[in-house]
Amino acid sequence: MPETLAPAATAPAPAHSIPGMALVPTGAPLLCRNTIDGPLILSLDPKGSDFIEWQAAGDSNGGDVQIVPESFHKNVAFLRIVQRGIIIIENAEDNPSVALALGKQNAAWANRNSVQQAEAEASISRESNNDLIEMQCVGPNPRGQGACENTIPVREMQKNDKPPLCNTHEDLAPQYVPYDETVNGKIVKKWSRVQMTQRERQQS
Ligand SMILES: [Zn+2]
Repeated sequence: MPETLAPAATAPAPAHSIPGMALVPTGAPLLCRNTIDGPLILSLDPKGSDFIEWQAAGDSNGGDVQIVPESFHKNVAFLRIVQRGIIIIENAEDNPSVALALGKQNAAWANRNSVQQAEAEASISRESNNDLIEMQCVGPNPRGQGACENTIPVREMQKNDKPPLCNTHEDLAPQYVPYDETVNGKIVKKWSRVQMTQRERQQS
């Protein structure tokens, strides 16, 4: 059987020539905490399109802990700030303060999401407010008692703009005045017909 020509199982010793290199484990994204009292930005390229931004130590949203991907691990600037202790590589499992920071980030993220969701829902409900709804005519019943039985389609947003009146009764509109009535704790606009006196009728 021929001898295998595979490379030796033992990896070459890592180069420790760059300060901080020995402090950075390889092979996985790292959780890194900013220890300084101000925000910190680490950028891989001069244009800064690929960057990590830490908030000041103790940030209320947990922004002082960021995930640093492998692409940054051999970056000289990153190694330098690790070596100086400006950035500390953390392990969430055995560090309650990092777990707390991540918890704050999740809470802030969930909060942002729920605000966005509420805004989205509000905008949907604004749109649906423009649905056509059926309103009963507030005109008199042609048989004398009660209200007219006709319904008319009205835009939800315009339902309080004028009294709902069917074709038969629409010329009565000037006789109606709005008033507020509380129904199930909500204020609902209602219309009341003001019968004109004989004298007012003559003047108009
Ligand atoms: Zn009517």
